[in-house]
Amino acid sequence: MFKMNREILESTLRELDQATYNHDRWYKELIRSLTCHLTHDERDMAEESFKQCRFGQWYYSISNEELLKHPTFISIGSEHLQMHKLATRLLLAGFNNEPTSPMEYDNFANALDRLRLNIETLKHEIEETLYNRDPLTGARNRVSMLSELRQILEMVKRNAQNATISIMDIDHFKQINDRYGHPVGDAVLKSLAEYVMEHIRPYDVVYRYGGEEFLICMNNTELTTASVIVDRLREGLSQHIAVHIGSEAITLSASFGIARLEPHNEIETAIKNADEALYHAKHAGRNRVEVYQEEGV
Ligand code: GH3
Ligand code: MG
Ligand code: MG
Repeated sequence: MFKMNREILESTLRELDQATYNHDRWYKELIRSLTCHLTHDERDMAEESFKQCRFGQWYYSISNEELLKHPTFISIGSEHLQMHKLATRLLLAGFNNEPTSPMEYDNFANALDRLRLNIETLKHEIEETLYNRDPLTGARNRVSMLSELRQILEMVKRNAQNATISIMDIDHFKQINDRYGHPVGDAVLKSLAEYVMEHIRPYDVVYRYGGEEFLICMNNTELTTASVIVDRLREGLSQHIAVHIGSEAITLSASFGIARLEPHNEIETAIKNADEALYHAKHAGRNRVEVYQEEGV
């Protein structure tokens, strides 16, 4: 799952498609030159041929840190380099009228296959991130929420871990829309969601559960720890300036309900329990965290 914003992800996907298309054309030209013993493109014989093809020009112009550190992106670079080195050798043999062994050709073809596989993998990862993310807030959307929570519940059932969820609902959010209009409401929502995502631990996941409601999944976290974490989040959020309107700084609080994922319950029950706790938090005056207590516990 990438953290970079939607625009960068979308432009990377477009560039990846364009670069792949150009690389396919390059490949066809190369096979044509080799088969028909035509004069080859000088750039393919250059020491740094892998930087000169269109794909290489794109690849080596990337400056996004997250992409540069991504293992699939790194593999693409090494397979691409390897493939160009092998292509140069094939062209050179053809140029000198030397025979090429099947193994040499296979090495080239295999490197090309691995390159394509890595490119497809990266594209899928980017598409998955785009598909599962809410465009306004950048939080994960509901598309994958239930299935991901069910996977975590399976771990809980096997006694492999604890997990806790929290549902957050912004307090008096409607007033923002009523007073300043929907676009300001959207900006506030975005800002609050970003605050939450920046202040949870890296392995906690935030889903946009409803309009101004978010579900936070805290894997491997006991109820008591979760309530400390969420209360800290609540406190920080209530002081966070969501937007400035003229000289006015807009801050909003949120209420939270917390519930454990119980091995004997379905996910829907845990969500209902967190919702019930949230309801109590609202009725007890808002800007609060309430924990759902199972009967008999
Ligand atoms: P409470 O403290 O009881 O939660 O009060 P509230 O006003 O936040 O609660 P309510 O559920 O009545 O209102 C939620 C509002 O959120 C209603 C809806 O118009 C607004 N809303 C939901 N999604 C969006 C959105 O994407 N953008 C904007 N601007 N408003 C939204
Ligand atoms: Mg609501
Ligand atoms: Mg609300």
